[in-house]
Amino acid sequence: MKSFTWKRDYCTKCGKCCLETEMILLRSDIERIKSLGYDESFFVREMYGYKVLKNINGYCVFYNPSTKKCRIYQARPLGCRLYPIIYDEKRGIIVDSYCPLANTVTKDELFRASRVIDKIINELLKS
Ligand code: SF4
Repeated sequence: MKSFTWKRDYCTKCGKCCLETEMILLRSDIERIKSLGYDESFFVREMYGYKVLKNINGYCVFYNPSTKKCRIYQARPLGCRLYPIIYDEKRGIIVDSYCPLANTVTKDELFRASRVIDKIINELLKS
């Protein structure tokens, strides 16, 4: 699947989105992160039949609380790249109001992200 990157680059580094993460991982995410030298058992756990990121001390294993940065930012999972746009089972594709920048997401960004989320859902349904 083609990678997705925001043109925006003004994250406040609040760390909220990396707190108690349940981010679903695609096979391509896992392979990309493994290619950095991480063992799958270090960062992958099973939840509801899906592979998701592990947490340590309440944060994603890749979150560095000292620097408030992601240790694998350039290779982070597709779902992390899309955030704060998420898929909610009941409400569909939405902007997560938990993010302090939620109100800055444009309609164009939402549209672009929704097309990627559709592909993610299809890929997960096939796996
Ligand atoms: S991979 Fe990086 S961006 Fe994604 S939840 Fe972990 S620390 Fe946050």
